[in-house]
Amino acid sequence: MQDAVVAVSTLDGTRKETVQQVDVAVVGAGFAGLYLLYRLRKAGFTTVTLEEADDVGGTWYWNRYPGARCDIQTIDYGFTFDPELEGAWRWSEKYATQPEILRYLGFVADRYDLRRDIRFRTKVTAAIWDQAKQRWLLTTDNGASVSCRHYIMATGCLSSPKPPEIDGVKNFKGEVYFTGRWPHEEVKLAGKRVAVIGTGSSGIQSIPLIAEQAAELAVFQRTPNFALPAHNGPVPGDRKALLDNDRTGYREQARWSLAGVPYPQQTVVSWQLSDAERRERFEKAWDAGDLVYILTQLWADQAVDVDGNALLAELFRDKIRAAVKDPETAEALTPYDHPFGAKRPCLDTNYYATFNRPNVTLVNLRQEPIEAITTSGIKTGKRTFDVDVIVFATGFDAMTGAIMAVHPITGRGGKSLSEVWANGPQTYLGLTVAGFPNLFMITGPGSPSVLSNMAVSIEQHVDWVVDRLTAMREAGFATIEATEAAQAGWARHMADCSMLTLHRLANTWYTGANVPGKAQGVMPYTGGVGPYRSICNEVVDRGMLGFMLSGPSVAEQCNDGEIVRLQPDVRLVLNMLAEMKLPPIESFGFQGARDFVAQFNASRPAGRPVGEIVDGSLPGPDGALSYRLYRPATPGPHPIVVYFHGGGWVLGDEQSDDPFCRDMCRRTGMIFVSVGYRHAPEYRFPAAAEDGYAATRWIAEHTAELGGQPGPVLVAGWSAGGNIAAVTCQLARDRGGPKIAGQLLVCPVTDCRFDRPSYNDNAAGYFLTRSLMYWFWDLYCSPADRTDPRVSPLRGKLAGLPPAFVVTCEFDPLRDEGNAYAEALTAAGVPVEQLQARGHFHSSFTMVDMVITSVSGRVQMAEALRRFAGLPPQATGGDEARRGQLASHKLAAAAG
Ligand code: NAP
Repeated sequence: MQDAVVAVSTLDGTRKETVQQVDVAVVGAGFAGLYLLYRLRKAGFTTVTLEEADDVGGTWYWNRYPGARCDIQTIDYGFTFDPELEGAWRWSEKYATQPEILRYLGFVADRYDLRRDIRFRTKVTAAIWDQAKQRWLLTTDNGASVSCRHYIMATGCLSSPKPPEIDGVKNFKGEVYFTGRWPHEEVKLAGKRVAVIGTGSSGIQSIPLIAEQAAELAVFQRTPNFALPAHNGPVPGDRKALLDNDRTGYREQARWSLAGVPYPQQTVVSWQLSDAERRERFEKAWDAGDLVYILTQLWADQAVDVDGNALLAELFRDKIRAAVKDPETAEALTPYDHPFGAKRPCLDTNYYATFNRPNVTLVNLRQEPIEAITTSGIKTGKRTFDVDVIVFATGFDAMTGAIMAVHPITGRGGKSLSEVWANGPQTYLGLTVAGFPNLFMITGPGSPSVLSNMAVSIEQHVDWVVDRLTAMREAGFATIEATEAAQAGWARHMADCSMLTLHRLANTWYTGANVPGKAQGVMPYTGGVGPYRSICNEVVDRGMLGFMLSGPSVAEQCNDGEIVRLQPDVRLVLNMLAEMKLPPIESFGFQGARDFVAQFNASRPAGRPVGEIVDGSLPGPDGALSYRLYRPATPGPHPIVVYFHGGGWVLGDEQSDDPFCRDMCRRTGMIFVSVGYRHAPEYRFPAAAEDGYAATRWIAEHTAELGGQPGPVLVAGWSAGGNIAAVTCQLARDRGGPKIAGQLLVCPVTDCRFDRPSYNDNAAGYFLTRSLMYWFWDLYCSPADRTDPRVSPLRGKLAGLPPAFVVTCEFDPLRDEGNAYAEALTAAGVPVEQLQARGHFHSSFTMVDMVITSVSGRVQMAEALRRFAGLPPQATGGDEARRGQLASHKLAAAAG
């Protein structure tokens, strides 16, 4: 500690105390705290780090239990800010042990002379924001208080061990250890009877080594976990070669990846692979012994779709059954209640084989819960285990525990962080909290943190924060605080992101479910490291969007707003399209545009399998029209939905909405017949409308021939196809049939007016542009005809139409005319249900496997079509349907 920064000041006018004055105070001297200290010092800020332990290391200081290792490969798990540091350190193994990682952090601290600014054995006991001074005052349990302009929590996500929550722990006369607070001196277990409670990563790493020493080991398991063999050894040659060949490129790829390890995004989906191909991919991952690899590299839908995930989980279960000799024990060790990866999977060495040892017993707490800990051991509902040692591997009050529970933090206006977070953590970017000026968290709730390679996330967070502090200083700002609107927007974005992955479907420490009474919700950011980085950068590029900045001699700045209003996957798709810098589609000419759409469609993921696909033709008003029929795999006959594709009456064909038709066929359990109607400019208005009507009539008259259920058909369509579906309903009513049981209109064109706000709000940047719509209209319909209800159904008579489900998307030029149609139908007495999809764009629902967050919308559409057809509710296939089959998912309902 530098004497220069220690001063004497008056706290309350009466009491004199020594207060250390610094620009920035940091809590924690682990990975995050060390890098912060390095960067802050380099940026010229006076800094002190307060650390409870007597040395650096953070999580690697405390977690000294037998078998503790990292489970991100060590070549990926280190600082990258200084190439010379990277050159100066060599890891001995693929996964380094805790002592080696601790040595590394000590090496870093020495190399940059960091210890001199760290106050060890010092706990912060309270932190209070002083609005008048615009500084934080920290009291400590050891030495001077600290007055700082900025307060940064680098306290880690898994550093506050949770209490055992089992009656009688204090009565136990033997030895008690917590994996998260393992003693520094050797713990002798040889010849002893040991109990381990908990089978998360800490339990799974330590159990095989404890079993080797103990006379008897009883493992108390509440929830079985998926554990992958680490196959530890030398750093793998292939990964090292990649790094050595292009260190900068390798690190940069990690920074923009989803998980912070440079692996590509998978594009092949599970249903494109045969059983043998899937097994081959799985075996490769099993042999690789790499969690990030197995979590991301098998098939594209493994982490986002319950069905895709289940295929992987079952292959995993086979491995457990093969490894454990006693079938009953194997069954008890096999997880069924959560998707693979929704709960943190583990990396192990001999874990499953340990249960083949004669001295090891698995106690399945689902069958015999622990009743109490007694003086001599553990009593379950069925028996008593006398033991000499109990090891609690029961985990942590994760993400919020270290920030909130460690000491009271009082922000502006006396707000307490514990109260503000009583219903779950609220943050902006996972880095800041409204009402708590100049407080930052590194890897806080709302950041990718624990769902990523922590080393990569920590460097990004620290760089962002220190760069902001530097920029503030240069601009004369003294305080920074997130706005409530920005924070609420981040909460919405977090909730949207949580629908992207399956983490919401398991009760885990990610969701707070492991701590009784804790508010529940997915706490880490599930949108990925690269997208998160781009959002943080965008906040800066947009003038510190969502932050209030103030300073003694500069004007206050508040650029309020939400940083992400699009659904996260829509944002990715639109960014990807923007990066392609495509010319406007209309500039290709109509044939060029058709070729472009065909090429675009060919590159998208294949649709899901259905029972049968039949291509055929039917008589139209002026020659044959092609159709493609999608039949469900379930026994028929099924009701028929006549479907009209999108494409502005100009582009596309009966196959161009193939993924959507397949998906809806599976979800509704109905036949979809997609009709290839004639296109403009070769066939202008009213060709498409008349084709739609004629095709519907023919299909309704030939239901039996098509294998469909006799009775009314339904119609559906997207965009211009929605227009044709709506028009068909009006024509059917006016021309004596056919009977139509219901209409699904997805982002339909309903009117020729272009002056509704959505035409301006979403004129460009959301794929379907205003100028493209003008072009479509010009090619299809002359101005004189545009008020005809056969192209502007909003202008037609609306009474007596079939019930409708109308979908509109927030970021779509057609939004307002879709909403207007729904309102007008309602006013005309037509039963209408509406889905106004927040954060979605015109193509969200048809980009089936790219816009994952559109699933719930299609579930609603399918339910509506089934209702219209008089069928009982039954969503078939996919995430939502399987969700109900996963036991104990309190969160699923909430998320849904
Ligand atoms: P954890 O994953 O939360 O596991 C705790 C275990 O204790 C679970 O099996 C839990 O069962 C059980 N448990 C908790 N309370 C219990 C009770 N009252 N009665 C019976 N069983 C109880 O904690 P962890 O193993 O310490 O790991 C936490 C995280 O730290 C990991 O997921 C990982 O991210 C990180 N970590 C990483 C490494 C590494 O890098 N190698 C090593 C260790 C930890 P339920 O599942 O039923 O709640």
